[in-house]
Amino acid sequence: TSSSPVELHPKVKAFLADGPKKLFIGGKFVESVSGKTFPSINPANGEVLVEVYEADAPDVDRAVEAAERALEGPWSKISPSERGRLLWKLADLIEENQEPLAQLETLDNGKPIRETRKADLPLVIDHFRYYAGWATKITGDTLSNSVSPYLFTYTRREPIGVVGQIIPWNFPLLMAAWKLGAALATGNVVVLKTAEQTPLSALYLAELIQEAGFPDGVVNILSGFGPTAGAAIVRHPRIRKVAFTGSTEVGKIIMREAAGNLKRVSLELGGKSPNIVFPDADFNRAVKGALHGIFFNQGQVCSAGSRLFVHKKVYDNFLSDLTDYASKLKQGPGLDETTEIGPLVSEEQFERVTGYLNKGKEEGAKPLVGGEPKPGPGYFVPPTVFADVHDRMTIAKEEIFGPVVAAMPFDDEEQIADVIRRANDTEYGLAAGVWTTDLRKAHRVAHALQAGTVWVNCYNVFDANVPFGGYKQSGFGREMGHYALDLYTEVKAVWVNIE
Ligand code: NAD
Repeated sequence: TSSSPVELHPKVKAFLADGPKKLFIGGKFVESVSGKTFPSINPANGEVLVEVYEADAPDVDRAVEAAERALEGPWSKISPSERGRLLWKLADLIEENQEPLAQLETLDNGKPIRETRKADLPLVIDHFRYYAGWATKITGDTLSNSVSPYLFTYTRREPIGVVGQIIPWNFPLLMAAWKLGAALATGNVVVLKTAEQTPLSALYLAELIQEAGFPDGVVNILSGFGPTAGAAIVRHPRIRKVAFTGSTEVGKIIMREAAGNLKRVSLELGGKSPNIVFPDADFNRAVKGALHGIFFNQGQVCSAGSRLFVHKKVYDNFLSDLTDYASKLKQGPGLDETTEIGPLVSEEQFERVTGYLNKGKEEGAKPLVGGEPKPGPGYFVPPTVFADVHDRMTIAKEEIFGPVVAAMPFDDEEQIADVIRRANDTEYGLAAGVWTTDLRKAHRVAHALQAGTVWVNCYNVFDANVPFGGYKQSGFGREMGHYALDLYTEVKAVWVNIE
């Protein structure tokens, strides 16, 4: 089979040669207080890409101090329109650096370069531009009150202050953008911790933040681990809000820890999203939608359509086509233009997903394609379609976060209540998909599903203007759109006696 390796961009070579990579605090690249470093690994071959300084509690303290200085100093004097201009400038710089950023992201995370170029980077750029526009549109209300005609009341939306942000490894740069865009547009200052598996693209972004001209300390970026640097952010008494994207398990820890000083909390957590195919669906589109819904980004997507409900009338044909497409996906290193599915992000994730493949087989599910991890080097798990899955099997209940779909037939024709009940029978509620050409059924099902996002005849589409977030144990708070502004502002009511 043909391959087409990408030649490394000179800026990526220079970035990797300049290690260990430092923390970004107060507008400067600095070593960690402890001087400790950890390696960032290339998941396509298991080799070290570069060492990275490891932040811990004292570095979080330094970052908070730098952020507070910025908040009280230069950042408070910058007008909303200038804030918007800085965000727009950052988007321009990312656009100019698209290729090196895409390559670095693919190297660190493993995702296919064609997706990093076509999905991650354009979404990141668009996201910053979108929130650049919001900076000048943060408004309060003028209110009527029944107390007295001589009392004039209005509200202001003020930034919360120092905001902590903790992000995962599956879309490192995009998750940073989702966190930074709304927080900066609303005038906050940020201490952001990247995931230990993928610290690199955010450090490159830090260089662009500096170049764009943000005052020192407005954005601080720390590489480090959850129980140390992450926990220090969550506990810090002068960080007033924490925004977290990651697992439901860690989300619960964060909520408990944040109770210490009643930090505002927003959580984007895991999912086990149902993708429901009715017999009247446009068959080919639905097959491709189910394929993309689970195998995009190696299935390491919180909204992955990992529970596939297919009506029994079309079940056999559907799985046969899905299996056929899945077996043809070209798996290889992300930095090959022809690669359609890359390695998983880390050895740990590889072990986790492999564990679920074994569990699926033990519990009696049948892999129609895939089902066995590939030998190294690199952390490759092939696209896997499990048939004969029952709702109570582990692979139908737990989030796998890998290229593994659990297919289940359903057979109610007029009564769609049963498949809706099964789809909702989960503690998660992040996303869902519906495939049908019946308009009434589409909306009825969309309304009945307990999920923050429902895609009808499409899957895994995102836009900066459309809110995203979970029901139930998939978290709370909505990122993107105007909804994210609520996550980063306090509302102040002002009463003025004008008598
Ligand atoms: P994770 O929860 O282990 O880690 C996420 C982040 O939290 C990392 O930066 C990690 O260092 C940090 N962390 C870990 N323990 C911590 C602690 N005790 N205190 C503070 N921070 C801590 O999750 P992961 O394995 O990196 O990511 C995969 C999970 O993220 C999946 O469950 C997936 O569904 C979820 N996810 C959700 C969304 C969403 O928008 N809802 C998006 C992407 C990923």
